[in-house]
Amino acid sequence: MYRGRLAPTPTGFLHLGHARTFALAAKRAQEASGTLLYRTEDLDASRCRPEFAAAAIEDLRWLGLKWTEGPDVGGPHAPYVQSQRLPWFHAVWQQLQAAGAVYPCDKSRQDVERSLTAPHSEDDAEPIFPPALRPATDAGRGAREPGLSNWRFRVPDGEAIAFDDALQGPHSFVAGRDFGDFLIWRKDGFPSYELAVVADDHAMGITEVVRGSDLLISTARQLLIYRALGWTPPTWAHATLVLDAAGKRMAKRSAGLSIREFRAKGKTAVEVLQAPISELLS
Ligand code: GLU
Repeated sequence: MYRGRLAPTPTGFLHLGHARTFALAAKRAQEASGTLLYRTEDLDASRCRPEFAAAAIEDLRWLGLKWTEGPDVGGPHAPYVQSQRLPWFHAVWQQLQAAGAVYPCDKSRQDVERSLTAPHSEDDAEPIFPPALRPATDAGRGAREPGLSNWRFRVPDGEAIAFDDALQGPHSFVAGRDFGDFLIWRKDGFPSYELAVVADDHAMGITEVVRGSDLLISTARQLLIYRALGWTPPTWAHATLVLDAAGKRMAKRSAGLSIREFRAKGKTAVEVLQAPISELLS
């Protein structure tokens, strides 16, 4: 049985790109006669705001998207707000730790940047963590709590992580070359995005992840987490990103492109979802 999800991060008002990606997620769930759930990904306390979380629900409902499990409707996997799910993420950290897949890391971003020899991948803002900065393989063994450290996932250097995307076809990223040891847990006491999304997609029984193609490389990281945990991964469908008039990717902060702004200008939900971008922006 198909189970999909909408998983916005409430750091701003949702824009046209979100509208179209989320509408695609809803369409795929509907076409498969499946279930769609809604999950608020608000773990970054410094950037997320409850008013944006509420606005996202209102905007997507206005667009006509229908989900049957979520913060506004409840459901068997509640709570659907990640900041309320910390005990679950902690349990998943423990499983990764017990599997020997992660290690505590006290290197700062500056340490990482100082020892970089190669420029990092353009698709992804995160610099590749240099293997020379890895601790011994038994670092962190026996730890029961993540404590006040960052924890990273030790990637299998040189291994190609391949997957078949339902919309974009085959993709492959090489561990250690396209992405390096990535954050699993942050020293501020919160899980990383990669841990939280895998933990929740698994717990909520998601069978297909539909999201923007900026997260293609994250799929390779997430597949490694699934493997370390012995969990079956979902399938993936990465939507092409909507570009603004200048050909740039729409950031949540781009003024004038939020769903509510189009609504305030009198555009209909169908126009926001279907009209050519050039027409909407004119
Ligand atoms: N919450 C993430 C974002 O808004 C998306 C996570 C995902 O779909 O895997 O960028």
